[in-house]
Amino acid sequence: MKTIIEPFRIKSVEPIYFNTPEERIVILEKAFYNPFLIHSTDVLIDLLTDSGTSAMSSNQWAGMMQGDESYAGSPSFFRFEATIQEITGMPWVIPTHQGRAAEKILFSILGGKGKCFLSNTLFDTTRANIEFSGAEGIDLICEEGKHPSVPAPFKGNMDLGALKKTILEKGPANIPLCIITVTNNSGGGQPVSMQNIKEAKKICAEHGIPLFIDACRFAENSYFIKLREEGYRNKPVPEIARELFSYADGCTMSAKKDAFANIGGFLAMHDGELARKCRNLLVITEGFPTYGGLAGRDLEAISIGLKEVMDENYLQYRIRSIEYLTNKLIEAGVPVMQPAGGHAVYLDAKKFLSHIPVEQYPGQALVGALYLHGGIRSVEIGSLMFGKYDENKNLIPSPLELVRLAIPRRVYTQSHIDYVAEVIIEVFNSREQINGLRIIEEAPMLRHFTAKLKPIQ
Ligand SMILES: *Cc1c(COP(=O)(O)O)cnc(C)c1O
Repeated sequence: MKTIIEPFRIKSVEPIYFNTPEERIVILEKAFYNPFLIHSTDVLIDLLTDSGTSAMSSNQWAGMMQGDESYAGSPSFFRFEATIQEITGMPWVIPTHQGRAAEKILFSILGGKGKCFLSNTLFDTTRANIEFSGAEGIDLICEEGKHPSVPAPFKGNMDLGALKKTILEKGPANIPLCIITVTNNSGGGQPVSMQNIKEAKKICAEHGIPLFIDACRFAENSYFIKLREEGYRNKPVPEIARELFSYADGCTMSAKKDAFANIGGFLAMHDGELARKCRNLLVITEGFPTYGGLAGRDLEAISIGLKEVMDENYLQYRIRSIEYLTNKLIEAGVPVMQPAGGHAVYLDAKKFLSHIPVEQYPGQALVGALYLHGGIRSVEIGSLMFGKYDENKNLIPSPLELVRLAIPRRVYTQSHIDYVAEVIIEVFNSREQINGLRIIEEAPMLRHFTAKLKPIQ
């Protein structure tokens, strides 16, 4: 087989700002070892997130000019609505300025004290919005999903036995909904199988619990289903996506992921009564229901992006580029999550830096090392992000200590990725020199965004 090439030509470019390792020592200290506090012009290759960092197509830019900025009833909204109705089959479509705004609205209505939301793995903003409402979020990831280095085709699957058990334990009346994240971002970008979604729906339906999809990466997940699940090889991706959504009562989405947009999101659902409540809240917090915190041009970029993302030449390149980097690292003996996920490569920091205890945040230490060595910005998905404290202020660590290298869509070329592999391998070969970190300042929620840390000498 020939090399899978980037399915685009480059029309407009942005400079990369080069700096030296000596300069980066000072920058990292000033940023308190937190990549979110580094200026983006101090980064060579920015793999902090794939969120809102996509390169838009010439078609999307053309669509931006078509954006109708009318306050109410803009044709840009109706195109947005029709696209989402077509993809999801859901009649009620509510635009929001991001995914978390959709979550805030949904969980403000359905959440509250004593309520409990079940998931394969809740993304951090989803969990935060659930907990902020006073409710509890429970992750029920399948056994394969708990072992980063053991390959399996659908490591994002929900543990269906645990789902049944938890529904009975908590009582269906206390579970306003179950939400499946596709692909499972916090669990390594691993896909969920169609069969798993179908069976989860069946279990939920038996107890009258609606099933929602956190659909940020629905196209990447659909493509994995095409590649890996029996019976889907000859089905077009839009058809697979449509089936996936057919098992859901609703969805939340951040258009900053699989819609190639720099901002935006939405809620969609079948329940007209719930949609009415959501729209009432939307008017207070986001905007009128036909723009929901977005400009008309954003709505255009999203509708065009949602169609482009299901192009199979694009998806083949997308999934392959993640796999390419993962395989290079595996060949060099670097501990990574296997198999490759959909949007990111995940280093297993617990194994990578086995000399650093979890209380010293090995993931965050590795993030710092990759920046110092090669100017690469990544993010910790481990105990800094998900850790909690017990009554004695001892850390309750996250089950996994991962470092995520998220690949922005259509932004970097193969030579950028080769450089990333070289840097990681060099850091791996001198890993004993890396020290752990301690937190000197933190916020009560989503602390990883603003926490300040210091190395332990
Ligand atoms: C990014 C993301 C969100 C939140 O979306 P924002 O647009 O960043 O607010 C929710 N769930 C998942 C799985 C995500 O990846």
